[in-house]
Amino acid sequence: MTDRAHYAGLAERLQPRTDALIDGRWVTAAERFETVNPATGQVLAAVARCREPDVDQAVRAARAAFEDGRWRDLHPRERKARLLALTGLIEAHSEELALLETLDVGKPITDSLTVDLPLTVRCFAWYAEAIDKLYDEVAPTGANIVAMVRREPVGVVAVVVPWNYPLMMAAWKLAPALAAGNSVVLKPAEQSPLSALRLGELALEAGLPPGVLNVVPGYGEEAGRALGLHDDVDAAGFTGSTEVGKLFLRYAGESNMKRVSLECGGKAPHLVLPDCPDLDGAAAAAAEGVFYNQGESCTAASRLLVHESIRDDFVARVVDKGAAYQPGDPLDPATRMGALVDATQFARVLRYIETGRQAGASCVLGGQRALEETGGYFVEPTVLDPVKPTDTVAQEEIFGPVLSVIGFRDLDEAVAIANGTIYGLNGAVWTRDITVALTLARRIRAGTVAINTYDDGDITVPFGGYKQSGFGRDRSLHAFDKYTELKTVWIAL
Ligand code: NAD
Repeated sequence: MTDRAHYAGLAERLQPRTDALIDGRWVTAAERFETVNPATGQVLAAVARCREPDVDQAVRAARAAFEDGRWRDLHPRERKARLLALTGLIEAHSEELALLETLDVGKPITDSLTVDLPLTVRCFAWYAEAIDKLYDEVAPTGANIVAMVRREPVGVVAVVVPWNYPLMMAAWKLAPALAAGNSVVLKPAEQSPLSALRLGELALEAGLPPGVLNVVPGYGEEAGRALGLHDDVDAAGFTGSTEVGKLFLRYAGESNMKRVSLECGGKAPHLVLPDCPDLDGAAAAAAEGVFYNQGESCTAASRLLVHESIRDDFVARVVDKGAAYQPGDPLDPATRMGALVDATQFARVLRYIETGRQAGASCVLGGQRALEETGGYFVEPTVLDPVKPTDTVAQEEIFGPVLSVIGFRDLDEAVAIANGTIYGLNGAVWTRDITVALTLARRIRAGTVAINTYDDGDITVPFGGYKQSGFGRDRSLHAFDKYTELKTVWIAL
């Protein structure tokens, strides 16, 4: 069994890349910014702070790589081979990449190793394998016409991602965009630039030509905004907050009408009915759903909607399961909950807990800072009860380990509460009754509804939101829609 000392030793020897990757070369920027280990509050590295001129250089490199066909004109079999080589390199460097994620964002090393990395590997492998199996269409026209409907790569794609699953969120966009033949400029979140830079290095090693994948670390208002407003970016794939998602729509309107796809926030309802087939299983899923990844998941099950007839019993079970998520050192393989990503997020989560209390809820679990002596940003797993559907904590995305418990009496009320936020990313329903389950799945306005589990699926199924959770879908073959244009070729015979 590998222990904390093993990862601490590896961490000391790590020498992460800190420059931008543009056109296959490491490029310094005029200034640097610090990325901090949230488990200790200590600076990890000083990273290139890309601004508009650096972003412009990266977009130019991506454009040149696209136009001369060094990537898009390769036989799909060849793009597949190189993306599979990249997949192999990610897998071979999983421990190092997992460690970079854990150090940069504070998530438990066990989660980075057993979830983030394997899912990133599967994502690249899946799209690499898909690309030489996709056929174009011939339309049903008259006998004197042949009409082909072809998919073409859109061109230069900007990928702007958050810090909660840095590699995985990037992979969901990079893999289909690259497989389809696009050139990409990736901007990781300022809290988590290190794994993206290493990924860029591995892509070069795998044989992706220079300029095909560029990585520009920097702040959102600088590098992110410059990408959003750039007239030579053809499509922007964004994952992050609803607030910044709306900015991307504005950027597109103010510049070249680039195609924008948005994966934004969530406030998932977790509905537990009196005929729930497995109360203990549902309670474990409710706890995992909101406390996994410190609650820093767009899909976090942050609203527990429980039928009044089983409420007390069920909440007691959730509290019992939730207590197992006491924060600990992210480098210790036994830790199930790590640190919040930075001081800002930490203060925000504690503020929300206080807001919930002031609105009349009690902390039936947690509610406090933890492990203060470490200098890290740890918060206890917290359950607020009772919460009203209109309370701030039931409406806004907290993005931390905080569960709001809301009671309901009938299905119409449950649906109204479930749909009563601006978000619509995902939700879950626990019932034995298949008719009720499928009716609720239909009535809940969200991109994913789980039944008798809390899960958002797999690379084979689309993932994305209704309402202000965004639009466009990551994962599955549908993701290609975001990174390709349809072209009709109309031929008279
Ligand atoms: P964020 O919106 O602050 O940042 C996301 C990215 O946008 C970062 O790279 C950031 O640098 C950049 N950015 C910030 N301000 C910008 C600006 N003015 N112009 C251009 N770019 C800018 O989000 P975050 O705090 O990094 O991540 C948390 C959010 O991400 C949550 O709302 C969460 O729900 C969402 N998220 C959604 C999904 C999903 O698939 N739906 C997945 C993960 C996270």
